[in-house]
Amino acid sequence: MSNKVVLELKDVTKDYKKTNIIRKMNLQVEDGEFLVMLGPSGCGKSTTLRMIAGLEVPSTGKILIDGKDSQKISSLERNIAMVFQDYALYPNMTVYQNLEYSLKVHKVKKEERQKRLEEILETLNLSDYRDRLPGQLSGGQKQRVALGRGMVKHSKIFLLDEPLSNIDVQLREKARDEIQALHEKNQQTIIYVTHDQLEAMALGDRIAIINDGIIQMIDTPDNIYNHPTNLFVAQFIGTPRINTLDVIYDQGELFFDDEVVLSNSKRLAEMNLTSKRLCLGIRPEHVIVKKEKTNLLYLSAQIEMIVDYGRYQQLTLSLKNNQAIKAITTTNNNFSSGESVYFSFMEEKILLFDYETKDNLEN
Ligand code: ADP
Ligand code: MG
Repeated sequence: MSNKVVLELKDVTKDYKKTNIIRKMNLQVEDGEFLVMLGPSGCGKSTTLRMIAGLEVPSTGKILIDGKDSQKISSLERNIAMVFQDYALYPNMTVYQNLEYSLKVHKVKKEERQKRLEEILETLNLSDYRDRLPGQLSGGQKQRVALGRGMVKHSKIFLLDEPLSNIDVQLREKARDEIQALHEKNQQTIIYVTHDQLEAMALGDRIAIINDGIIQMIDTPDNIYNHPTNLFVAQFIGTPRINTLDVIYDQGELFFDDEVVLSNSKRLAEMNLTSKRLCLGIRPEHVIVKKEKTNLLYLSAQIEMIVDYGRYQQLTLSLKNNQAIKAITTTNNNFSSGESVYFSFMEEKILLFDYETKDNLEN
């Protein structure tokens, strides 16, 4: 990755009829970067990609490619490839012809075309299907053809719209690794759209979390997971979902239902808190649960449910006030359902959000 910005969205909005779909999107993508856009269905991911590809025009704002207004660049000059969510294959062309088509349009020489196509057919395991029509392929095979059609172009910017969503779970991990290997080899700039958080975390140099047509946070997977800007981001990433508790801040201490959750904390002191009511976020793997009470483990709970995943156990703990939290333990503690236990939170992992705005108080 170099620091050169190859793509920039400046205050981009998009309305369909009177509905505002994209609300002011600002984004800079560097040369060779792998950027993942992650968000729930309907949040505007495909719309954003289509605007970058030049298939839709922003209602307001600008898209710059290599510093040039994208609306002033012809589609031939654009040097962007896109893999569509719905494949968009030509139904009357064979797999080979589908893959070859854009190379012909771009007047790539026959020898070079053949070389690239053989490579792609091999990589995507499509050699045996080269003469088939799209109608004679499974969903996963069609998706691989769509992927290959984007890959053969060797374009500078490669846009992928949920390229793996219809591929079997077993094949998906392999395909994901191939996309990553491809990126390492070719250093293309990639914008990859998905609603799958695991895929996003695995692939992205940076992840842009989108909700309601707005980028909520754009950062490395590590920062997104450990330092989310707001509660939406915190809850969107991580399974099981981050636990939240209503807590009260008072004179240097945090209370949950009259019991101290956190005191003598340097972090709390540095936050200059004034508001009293806060929302505490703690991920299940950062909850410590034991059978015995200690100086550090003194909050009490009852085990409501245990799910054993083999590699780890997921506990649902019921607390006072009818609240419940989930905890993940990797060691076998011989817990049983209904048992009374003690718990605490790893102090450095506690997140605190403003009760009203749900913004992370440390960002
Ligand atoms: P995503 O890809 O994140 O699931 P989309 O970008 O496809 O979301 O769609 C965002 C919103 O815009 C949705 O509510 C969708 O119904 C709407 N939308 C998308 N394309 C059109 C269109 N051509 N006309 C009207 N509404 C559209
Ligand atoms: Mg979409």
